[in-house]
Amino acid sequence: MTTAGAERIDCAVIGAGVVGLAVARALALAGREVLVLESGAAIGGGVSSRNSEVIHAGMYYPAGSLKARLCVRGNRLLRDFAADHGVSFSMCGKLIVATDDAERGKLADILAKGQANGVSGLSAIPAAQAREMEPHLSCTAALFSADTGIIDVHGLMLALQGVVEAHGGMVALHAPVLGGKAQDDGVLLKVGGAEPMTLLAKNVVVAAGLHSCPVARSLGLANVPRDYLCKGNYFTLTGKMPFSRLVYPVPVAAGLGVHYTLDMAGRGRFGPDVEWVDAEDYAVDPRRGDQFYAAIRRYWPGLADGALEPGYAGIRPKISGPTENAADFAVHGPAQHGGAGGVALYGIESPGLTSSLALAEMVKEMVA
Ligand SMILES: Cc1cc2nc3c(=O)[nH]c(=O)nc-3n(C[C@H](O)[C@H](O)[C@H](O)COP(=O)(O)OP(=O)(O)OC[C@H]3O[C@@H](n4cnc5c(N)ncnc54)[C@H](O)[C@@H]3O)c2cc1C
Repeated sequence: MTTAGAERIDCAVIGAGVVGLAVARALALAGREVLVLESGAAIGGGVSSRNSEVIHAGMYYPAGSLKARLCVRGNRLLRDFAADHGVSFSMCGKLIVATDDAERGKLADILAKGQANGVSGLSAIPAAQAREMEPHLSCTAALFSADTGIIDVHGLMLALQGVVEAHGGMVALHAPVLGGKAQDDGVLLKVGGAEPMTLLAKNVVVAAGLHSCPVARSLGLANVPRDYLCKGNYFTLTGKMPFSRLVYPVPVAAGLGVHYTLDMAGRGRFGPDVEWVDAEDYAVDPRRGDQFYAAIRRYWPGLADGALEPGYAGIRPKISGPTENAADFAVHGPAQHGGAGGVALYGIESPGLTSSLALAEMVKEMVA
């Protein structure tokens, strides 16, 4: 690949998921020239359309971590953005429930973490109060998070794209980045698809979700973490919805436990579970339902046989493996990746949706 004939651009963002679009919006608002390169036929076809759509409050992550800081700030930014741009969201609140003594201890840890992270609207409540709020619930104690909610992620991404375009940015679909080379004056990008081209971008932001690590390697960036795929399956609920708030058990390794969430249309679903996989595969094995019934009946004994149906699955872009401690978001600038310009984002799993606008603020500063 050579610079000869390459089109020059200030900022190229690789990936039009919620994070890439939020970054592109921040750059466009700052007056930068931005082109978003998306391999798919539409925006948001990756991790961003296969999740729980929850606006998290930030009580699960170690104090001082990027996940804690960006989730707490992102929660506020997301709600303000959604309100200003007519994106549907609801701050319906969430209960985190303990069902035995061991789990009560875990609730105390979550409360302490939440307080250390500056999470607002979080309080411990007795089981009786939780049951008053949600009569079908069974628990021995609970935390109530008033600042947890749900959002229409697709509406959010469309609104972000709208701001990018209104400020002169562009989103190119069917535009996969096939590889490239970091050099002194920027990053040379080979773009395939319908209109193949070579670009010389002064700054590149790698926000390719499950593909961030391979894309960064294909650009020759240094210190790319090892990546893992961790699938989360959902089962949908037929019949009457049991709860009006989100209900979570205490977290399990690699996930938040099989929880109950609602979407903006009022449909209920349970998930995601934890299944480490070697390749992208979104089929939900109905046999996994047995574990769902057992997990859910700990806090909702009234779940009837046959009420769950296989729903959909998402895959967490992890940079820590099954036997390791959970990794923080990794946001690499030139000092870490050794290239000339730009930022690479790795391991943007949950709470990446909630954190998207705060991540974008951070990336914008790094690109400046
Ligand atoms: C099961 C599950 C539940 C979750 N629940 C929540 C939740 O409730 N709340 C929350 O805050 N977070 C949640 N998350 C996390 C959240 O969904 C992600 O952090 C967020 O969607 C990541 O967005 P992204 O833009 O980084 O990635 P993506 O949405 O995957 O976007 C990356 C884009 O890059 C494109 N791409 C890939 N390779 C290339 C290439 N070579 N060239 C061009 N384009 C390319 C892809 O097509 C894709 O569109 C959940 C995640 C999972 C898996």
